[in-house]
Amino acid sequence: MSDAEPDGLARYGIAAKSVVREPTRDRHEPMNVCAECGAPAEGPASQRIHHPDLSNPDRLSADVLPCYGWRCERHSYTVVMPLQFADPRSPSDGWTGVSIELADGREREISVPAQEVSASA
Ligand SMILES: [Zn+2]
Repeated sequence: MSDAEPDGLARYGIAAKSVVREPTRDRHEPMNVCAECGAPAEGPASQRIHHPDLSNPDRLSADVLPCYGWRCERHSYTVVMPLQFADPRSPSDGWTGVSIELADGREREISVPAQEVSASA
């Protein structure tokens, strides 16, 4: 098992595909937890989605998509739980909405730095 060093491969430029989930609240505490393991999630902060499933790959193609939300690194992949673009907690100035597919197949418009989108257009 490589659980002790989940980010090890990333140092060599080989990052496991991120698992993208909806932000999840703890049932008892006012905090966000990992949608997969229930441990406290890190955030909200800038996160990176590796190999995102973009709904409109023509508009934007990226191996790494920055976003804003939470993450959990207790897995062999990174679980990223981005805030929806429409969420009032999302940063707005200089951010735009990008549609991606979550691990469960649903689509969400998440917050992404606008320069990421215009830079590749
Ligand atoms: Zn987790």
